[in-house]
Amino acid sequence: MSTDCTHLDQVAVLEPAERAGCPECLALGGTWVHLRSCLVCGQVGCCDSSPAKHATAHFEATGHPLMRSIEPGEGWGWCYVDEASVPTAVLASLR
Ligand SMILES: [Zn+2]
Ligand SMILES: [Zn+2]
Ligand SMILES: [Zn+2]
Repeated sequence: MSTDCTHLDQVAVLEPAERAGCPECLALGGTWVHLRSCLVCGQVGCCDSSPAKHATAHFEATGHPLMRSIEPGEGWGWCYVDEASVPTAVLASLR
């Protein structure tokens, strides 16, 4: 069973800082699979299917627990700490 996320009051930024790509991969000349955006500060990073896993690295570096997918057509979010999905109603209400 999944637990409920207790960090939803930290959701502050729905718009990603950029959509062109993972900025750290771009800087390093790397590649990524999917893009995620931090819901606390808007930092964009790549998913865990990508070689560098910058979205998870951002969580580990900053403690920002919440991210969402910014892939076209995807509207889900995730809490790394609780390993729980962010309710779509929370994302929709701030869009
Ligand atoms: Zn949480
Ligand atoms: Zn990356
Ligand atoms: Zn962040």
